[in-house]
Amino acid sequence: MALPVLSIVYPMADPTETPQHDTIWFDEGTLVAVLTTQPLDRTLDYKAPEGGCWQGAFVEVPLGPRKILGVVWGPGEGGFDLAKARSVTRVLQAAPMQPAMRDFLMRAADYTLTPLSAMLRLATRAPGLGDSPSMRHVYRMGARGGIETGDVGRMTPARQKVLAVLEDFGDLSFTLKELADAADVTPSVVKGLVKLGAVLEEKTPRDVPYPGLDYDASGKALSADQAAAVAALQGDAKAQVYSTTLLKGVTGSGKTEVYLEAVAACLRQGRQALVLLPEIALTAEFLSRVEDRFGARPAEWHSGVTLTERRRAWKMVGQGHAQLVVGARSALFLPFQDLGLIVVDEEHDTSYKQEDGVLYNARDMAVLRANLESAQVVLASATPSLESWANAEAGKYKRLDLTTRFGAAVMPDLRAIDMRAEAVPGGRWVSPTLQAAVNARLALGEQSLLFINRRGYAPVTLCRACGNQIGCDHCDARMVEHRFQKRLMCHQCGETKPMPEKCPSCEAEGRLSAVGPGVERLTEEAEALFPDARVATLSSDMYGSARALKAQIESLAAGEADVIIGTQLVAKGHNFPLLTLVGVIDADLSLHGGDLRAAERTFQLMRQVAGRAGRADKPGVAMLQTHQPEHPVIRAILGGDEEGFWKAEAAERHMAGVPPYGRLVGIVISSPDMAEAFDLGTAMARNAVPLTQIGAQVFGPAPAPIARVRGRHRVRLLVKASKSAPIQAAITQWLAQFKWPNQLRLSVDIDPQSFY
Ligand code: ADP
Ligand code: ZN
Repeated sequence: MALPVLSIVYPMADPTETPQHDTIWFDEGTLVAVLTTQPLDRTLDYKAPEGGCWQGAFVEVPLGPRKILGVVWGPGEGGFDLAKARSVTRVLQAAPMQPAMRDFLMRAADYTLTPLSAMLRLATRAPGLGDSPSMRHVYRMGARGGIETGDVGRMTPARQKVLAVLEDFGDLSFTLKELADAADVTPSVVKGLVKLGAVLEEKTPRDVPYPGLDYDASGKALSADQAAAVAALQGDAKAQVYSTTLLKGVTGSGKTEVYLEAVAACLRQGRQALVLLPEIALTAEFLSRVEDRFGARPAEWHSGVTLTERRRAWKMVGQGHAQLVVGARSALFLPFQDLGLIVVDEEHDTSYKQEDGVLYNARDMAVLRANLESAQVVLASATPSLESWANAEAGKYKRLDLTTRFGAAVMPDLRAIDMRAEAVPGGRWVSPTLQAAVNARLALGEQSLLFINRRGYAPVTLCRACGNQIGCDHCDARMVEHRFQKRLMCHQCGETKPMPEKCPSCEAEGRLSAVGPGVERLTEEAEALFPDARVATLSSDMYGSARALKAQIESLAAGEADVIIGTQLVAKGHNFPLLTLVGVIDADLSLHGGDLRAAERTFQLMRQVAGRAGRADKPGVAMLQTHQPEHPVIRAILGGDEEGFWKAEAAERHMAGVPPYGRLVGIVISSPDMAEAFDLGTAMARNAVPLTQIGAQVFGPAPAPIARVRGRHRVRLLVKASKSAPIQAAITQWLAQFKWPNQLRLSVDIDPQSFY
């Protein structure tokens, strides 16, 4: 049933076509309120254009000398001379925004205390939405090897770069500019390759529907508890009412297989489905699983997708010509016509929280959106967030459990290595016990993973002469040495500088030394300890593109390395079938965060990492190097009494009145002038009647843990309230009392995940 793309008649979004839902029609010349993407706190009135328009229409309107994007939000407010009103310039060729989407943007704006215009920007993040549909040229890989065979002399470095980009991106098409930019060459290089036949130039409509997914093709034969979970989810899909289900299952239990069947049920209802993944590098594996199951690939939406493809996805989703979207958190803001299912895979993952711009948690917003769309949410994880666990406990979410790994695979055996009893030389991090375990795997031809959650070579560069630690010039943070790049980098602001020869403080030469381990340094150690092994490093910052990273992950999974050195990236759901040993270099690292979720995060991360071992037919072992084997969290990880851990953690949070049993709001005031930030913080803490009225408490002001970032001093306040208190209204009232100078910035984070 997979439809060839071009046999479908190109659908024109006729703006005058009657939408399927209840909405208002505005005759030409009537006053309409338009929400624009400009940072204004209100809608603007315009006259409906020639031919009229629907509520929800995407339009272009004049603002001063410019033309800007907007959505017809409702009837105009008027109250001024109608003759002075300007007209909507034109209605864009896009499906009008659905009422449920308008509600979603408004509710999400209210919840996160974000201006509605900023929400609309999130919902229109595709280029050229206003361009009219037309044909254009796209470029893709021509006959493979077209150049190598014969014309060796014609291969230039610039041409090679173009071919490398095309190779990297597989079957995707580029515009001339995108391809030239991606390869960092001039367009003429691409044209030259077209003449040689190595690159194909084709004419296509700008946006074409995605191939149909064959949801009736049969999936895999399911185990009994997989089948039970699928039956429950499919029942909910048929009901077409809101529900949220926590799908909890150990890594390798078949959660993905199960939710793919939920996707099938949703598509069978004629509705659209969205699968959110926490990491772009995971999409490649998932896409091929979708292709295996449904015979074609879904739409993709994340930062690794070309702008042309993004625009296509946005438009086709709106017109119902994309049945399934796989994407990052921002895919939640796509204009689905009839959304029936949202899957949030690895729902505990902290990257679902957007930490700049609009501060929202995609997991929570998925539940909100599904509520408004009468859709189903599936939250999948081996180690759920305490929030979701508690919602399931309270009966707000349904819960389905997959308790065993699929097939012969069993959960790895978990052991602690007590570092107090190990003789580890200075500047080394792998204990003799762990070393012996890796050697045993090498002898068997099996893979090992050494895990350390720190990028770079070493977290600290210290001058042995004066004791100075090299810091960032703009932040209160130490610079991290990245030896592969031969630079120091600030992980706060991204600033880099070459590794100095002399100490910047005392000018002593040759006295700078690396302190502490990072993933690069551990690689060096592994190469020394295991000279005959193939050692490979997997860290998000070491690959130029998401595609290159994906390729690296695939080759490692296929057995291209004996010892893999990895950061957090490897914990996120990748399949490494040959891996039988996981060694955690420092299991105590995240215990000392002092953060409310330190125990929860350590528990999740350690169990996720351990879950990488022994996925196929060989049993795995996970070894945790720790200085505190008796710590309750370490014991819970080793003991595997998950429910016991969640219950204890829940009881503690309950007592303390913190999430998920209470509500926190993080406030950060930042300014180039420290006193100014503190003065405002103090004034805010003193004048908090709107908060105390609802029983909320204010803590602070205090310097933020990272007290200066990009040259701005940062001061924090924390508001704590009960779950039922109307916190958004109170915060709005509270903040309205203060005036702040222009250079001062205020960020309000409802349900903060990070407290730096
Ligand atoms: P999870 O998402 O829980 O980590 P997956 O869905 O990725 O688990 O399943 C783990 C592995 O087991 C995958 O390779 C998957 O294809 C395989 N698998 C799971 N269930 C089945 C099944 N019913 N039939 C065949 N293979 C399965
Ligand atoms: Zn910095």
